[in-house]
Amino acid sequence: MSQTKGDIGLIGLAVMGQNLILNMADHGFTVVAFNRSVEKVHAFLANEAKGKSILGAESIKDLVSKLKTPRRVMMLVKAGDAVDNFIDQLVPLMEKGDIIIDGGNSEYQDSERRTKALAAKGIRFVGAGVSGGEEGARYGPSMMPGGNKEAWPYIKDIFQGICAKADNQPCCDWVGSDGAGHFVKMVHNGIEYGDMQLIGEVYHLMLSMGITQDEMAETFAEWNKGELDSFLIDITKDILNYKDADGQYLLPKIRDTAGQKGTGKWTAISALNYGVPVTLIGEAVFSRCLSALKAERTHASKVLPGPTEKWSGDKKQFLEDIRQALYASKIVSYAQGFMLLREAALVHKWDLDYGSIALMWRGGCIIRSVFLGQIKNAFDKDPNLNSLLLAPFFLDAIKKAQKGWRNVVSTATRIGVPTPALATALAFYDGYRSERLPANMLQAQRDYFGAHTYELLGKEGKFVHTNWTGHG
Ligand code: NAP
Repeated sequence: MSQTKGDIGLIGLAVMGQNLILNMADHGFTVVAFNRSVEKVHAFLANEAKGKSILGAESIKDLVSKLKTPRRVMMLVKAGDAVDNFIDQLVPLMEKGDIIIDGGNSEYQDSERRTKALAAKGIRFVGAGVSGGEEGARYGPSMMPGGNKEAWPYIKDIFQGICAKADNQPCCDWVGSDGAGHFVKMVHNGIEYGDMQLIGEVYHLMLSMGITQDEMAETFAEWNKGELDSFLIDITKDILNYKDADGQYLLPKIRDTAGQKGTGKWTAISALNYGVPVTLIGEAVFSRCLSALKAERTHASKVLPGPTEKWSGDKKQFLEDIRQALYASKIVSYAQGFMLLREAALVHKWDLDYGSIALMWRGGCIIRSVFLGQIKNAFDKDPNLNSLLLAPFFLDAIKKAQKGWRNVVSTATRIGVPTPALATALAFYDGYRSERLPANMLQAQRDYFGAHTYELLGKEGKFVHTNWTGHG
């Protein structure tokens, strides 16, 4: 009797791979599992996968032989060489039209290269961003597939079956060609860095106000009922509430240095490469770098003076100002993220659907929030929206938030609490709404020391040079 063939093969049995396989099996798909260290296949089959529509493979050849055609193989392995190594092993065993999917956190340029190289061999490659961590992978991640669009009809049912749903719609759709899926995932991660940094700064301000951790948790719980309703605000409330076995709060005992795996840095580098002012994510990455200088900071804290002024004022009002500052800064951060997507789409000729991207992030992933529903609405109303800041809903929100936002940034400066993300968001906002910026001075300086020439207002496109030290 012939054995049932698998609908999809999955390589990589670490947390993400195992949970995605279980999720696929729950949705009626038969999955063939493989891992470089084959003992993990045996352990998985004997435990988590027991009794489910999951088969094991002893080798890549075995995996490929157990799949229906066109074959679909998804990898959830460490990004980089491991992905290329598996592709090299798979290709000689596959036929034209078969599909290879990389669901790891790969760099978008790698996905672009792989899509092109595999298309030349008749293999359809998909670089799919997957977000939501272990829990998301198990019960519904946000998925951002891009690459060779010919693959989409063959993987759509699986992807849209297992992904998160928001407002009854799947948080997964085709993103675009080549590296588009991984680019969108990268920007998602960058935005995640920004959201986390903003919450960190808010926590710092609350500490400087001298409010108890109890009150902080209550405040976040309250905020989570309104326009800030999101996964990150919700978990912040849980973190603030958490007490150790000794009955003391755990959070103050945690070392104040943050690590990073690189996707926030990639977003900031992309922003610099494409010339898009994604300042908030940049500040979020640099803030992690500054936090890592713990020994230097400890020394400097004893040497460098700060202001003597302490926070004072109406607690309830200032907490509301902080909420407004957080909301307005978040709007700026997402506006910047979408500006980066727009620029990259222009360069790469990706036909990105921004409303659909907002929906993909609306559920399942770390940045999931009610707010993303509003972003989707804004792009649905005007798909050619230049900036989220100009969408009537967000324009109105910023109008309401502005006073509190400015008060928070100026107060933080006066009392010496670093708020780089809240402050850069406001500086961006003020720059973006300025018809005139002091770049005329930069033009003049560049012409003075380097004869770079400048343009005169009303005579754009015509470049002139002045001998600034000459007379007349
Ligand atoms: P991981 O720790 O990133 O990777 C472990 C897996 O990669 C194992 O299957 C391991 O095989 C395999 N592997 C590592 N180096 C290899 C090599 N040189 N050759 C062949 N196989 C190799 O696993 P993960 O956390 O489940 O993540 C999988 C992918 O999803 C990664 O790209 C990750 O960045 C991305 N991701 C992770 C999360 C998360 O929350 N963890 C969220 C979103 C995306 P062995 O067992 O043989 O070592």
